[in-house]
Amino acid sequence: MNHFLAREDFPHLLSALTQAGYGCVGPQIRQGAIVFDHLHSVTQLPQGWQDEQQPAHYRLQQTDSPYWFNWSNGASAIKPYTFAPQENLWTVQRDQSGRLRFQATLPQPQKTAIIGVRACDLAALALQDQHFLHGKHVDPYYQARRESLLLIGVNCTHAAATCFCVSTGDGPDIRQPYDLLLSEIAAGFLLSSGSTAGATLAAQLPLTPASDAQQHTAQQRMQAATQQQRHLPAKPPLFAHLDHPHWQTVGARCLACGNCTSVCPTCFCHQAVEIPDLDGDTSRHERRWDSCFQPGHSYIHGWQIRSNATDYYRQWLTHKLAGWHEQFGRSGCTGCGRCISWCPAGIDLTAEVEQLV
Ligand code: SF4
Ligand code: SF4
Repeated sequence: MNHFLAREDFPHLLSALTQAGYGCVGPQIRQGAIVFDHLHSVTQLPQGWQDEQQPAHYRLQQTDSPYWFNWSNGASAIKPYTFAPQENLWTVQRDQSGRLRFQATLPQPQKTAIIGVRACDLAALALQDQHFLHGKHVDPYYQARRESLLLIGVNCTHAAATCFCVSTGDGPDIRQPYDLLLSEIAAGFLLSSGSTAGATLAAQLPLTPASDAQQHTAQQRMQAATQQQRHLPAKPPLFAHLDHPHWQTVGARCLACGNCTSVCPTCFCHQAVEIPDLDGDTSRHERRWDSCFQPGHSYIHGWQIRSNATDYYRQWLTHKLAGWHEQFGRSGCTGCGRCISWCPAGIDLTAEVEQLV
């Protein structure tokens, strides 16, 4: 059942989270973009701000609206909170007898509540869970971070021009597991819990039953975010078009910067780097985000399989939109649109797919 939390009572949620031992993270404005960062007060939330996104374009505009979550997304998804951009996995040390001693360096993350998670990012998290947790080998580094999270989703009420989660089936309303779910209306939030931890928190809040009028308003606001300009076919047959001349056209525009893979909430490629100490007895093994747009990504045994932007882009798109169906049973795209906005060349995967199939 939906409850109502008045806007002026939202600080009670922050207090309840703090008392339960969670550090809070929420949306804030940094350098002209909405990002997730430590949240201590509701005054840090982006009240009245709305994003305007187009290919290679991201701007924030202030409005006089009372809303804190009336934007679609920012550059950073919640990916860094589970899959760290850079982390030490283990160290190896030579002891006095000359034997090598390996020591895993598992993270010990603080319990963290992320406030304002979007539908597309929860769908991406479910995909990352499939990769890191539900495969043959569980990744204990990802697992430790994942288990430290409490997820407070907020349904979208505004779709940027780059959003297409409706066509991927991932939004704008939240469809994946959450701990608490919020829908924002002018006076406050409709709130429902989706886990025991969420229900325990909700029980500490000054909630009232949501009225029919409040539920209707929330539904109408969410409906506004279903009006999306872009669309992606469910399973574009890209493997049947590997020699299409449009790969060359898009490759000529691509700068191979890797922005698209960095901002993508589902990309999980990484590289392993050995960092030997100058003492000659110690070495660290580090995992860093990698990108299929980097030359080293396809290097094996003295041979680089892909060496130009056309090949990089074809690899990225065919894997994400076609290969993932075989690996994970669905597309690797949840329609967040970030790779469109943050591509400096304005490359738009929805438009490229239209040309390719
Ligand atoms: S491919 Fe692009 S639109 Fe799809 S999830 Fe990744 S960043 Fe978002
Ligand atoms: S598609 Fe765009 S964001 Fe991705 S590597 Fe090429 S230029 Fe960079």
